[in-house]
Amino acid sequence: MLDPDRVRHDDLRGGTPPWHTMLQRPTRRRIEESFRCGVLVVGAGITGSLAAEHLACLGHDVCVIDRQRPGFGSTTASTAMLLWEIDRSLTELTDLYGFERAANIYRRSEAAVGGLMQLVAARGLVCGMSPRHSLYLAAGESGPRELRAEHDLRARVGLPGELLDHPALLREFGIHREAAIVSPGSSDADPVLLSHALLAEAVRQDAKLFDAHAIGYDSSSDAVIVVLDEGHVIEAKHVVLATGYVMPDILTSDLHKVVSSWAIATPPQQPETIWRDKALIWEASEQYNYLRATPENRIVIGGEDDDTVVEPEARDALMPAKARVLREKLKALWPRAEAMAEFVWSGAFGTTIDGLPLIGPVPGHPRIHAAYGYGGNGITYSYLASRMIAASIAGDRKPWFDDFAIDRDAPKEC
Ligand SMILES: Cc1cc2nc3c(=O)[nH]c(=O)nc-3n(C[C@H](O)[C@H](O)[C@H](O)COP(=O)(O)OP(=O)(O)OC[C@H]3O[C@@H](n4cnc5c(N)ncnc54)[C@H](O)[C@@H]3O)c2cc1C
Repeated sequence: MLDPDRVRHDDLRGGTPPWHTMLQRPTRRRIEESFRCGVLVVGAGITGSLAAEHLACLGHDVCVIDRQRPGFGSTTASTAMLLWEIDRSLTELTDLYGFERAANIYRRSEAAVGGLMQLVAARGLVCGMSPRHSLYLAAGESGPRELRAEHDLRARVGLPGELLDHPALLREFGIHREAAIVSPGSSDADPVLLSHALLAEAVRQDAKLFDAHAIGYDSSSDAVIVVLDEGHVIEAKHVVLATGYVMPDILTSDLHKVVSSWAIATPPQQPETIWRDKALIWEASEQYNYLRATPENRIVIGGEDDDTVVEPEARDALMPAKARVLREKLKALWPRAEAMAEFVWSGAFGTTIDGLPLIGPVPGHPRIHAAYGYGGNGITYSYLASRMIAASIAGDRKPWFDDFAIDRDAPKEC
């Protein structure tokens, strides 16, 4: 369990990712006195930036606080594959929650990636975002039969995608696996640029960004009093908690846990060395590896998650060994690559047992809204959270929000 008052960015990630960190630096003001605002967003990573931009755009009086440099927490460790396919396959999610509910969750996820792409295009945000196909490879216990069942179930929902057998996969993508599902509708980006561009956009729409550390929340009246470590307070009509994998004590959930994950980025490859269309590649396995290519033609490969390693020092000490494994995996999957690791990094990675995020009012605190995008779709979920929370604040809560509620029942299988 991460201690909310002590954890700092260095505890959340180690090493160096390949993202652009020097272009836009949102400036935080110091807080000189207590004040009131409409909505206070706590945390200015990708989740808080998405919420702040949307709420400011809707005309709310928005303040954002972060105790450290915005965008340099878990956001900078992200490999930023913006997939609508979620960690639990549609088949698994159907087993957990039934077909209708699982189908709706997948539809929401697909719409969220589409919404994020539209937002970036409409605002002209410079963040290296590109639309991508995803390539979901047979792996481990998921062979051609399981992938066909998954494909058929997705087709029943109306989700796009094509099943490739081994010869077709080899012909189309040059990859040796028994089968794959190739699907349109995903994208990738530079997570730090995306986060900073959104924050700049929020500030342009009158959101105010402060350097402050929230240490307590009192929601006993018809506003929320947020206590800061320096002694001032901010009184807000609503609070959005976007503190990443560090959750304040008022929020508890049995559904999530934090594990460790690692990634590497190669030097830029010759363009012809990259697979077709820089598709986002991942595996149909619980312990999956995933690959993407950056605009500079670096290959990023990540995974090797470990739930027995949680201490930052132990996680970071494993970087050389994990980098070796990831290079071997890259060579096996894509022998044409120059499988060097120019960048190696690690990160705390939050997961939930059903692969879904924790979004919605904190139980017992209806004016405090949680935006925790756990799982491999963290950023997709952050977008979803920003829209759901804005709707809740407007009094337009929909029944389907319960699928992501913090206090949802754990599925029976778990
Ligand atoms: C190795 C790795 C790979 C990943 N790959 C992907 C991927 O391919 N696709 C994807 O969608 N997701 C991916 N994720 C997940 C994604 O990165 C996260 O879901 C996302 O970055 C979380 O962003 P955030 O804004 O919620 O948290 P953060 O970026 O950690 O931001 C939270 C901010 O809150 C601030 N804060 C915390 N507590 C307080 C407080 N009390 N007062 C004031 N400020 C506070 C922190 O300083 C921090 O800046 C990956 C994660 C990792 C680690």
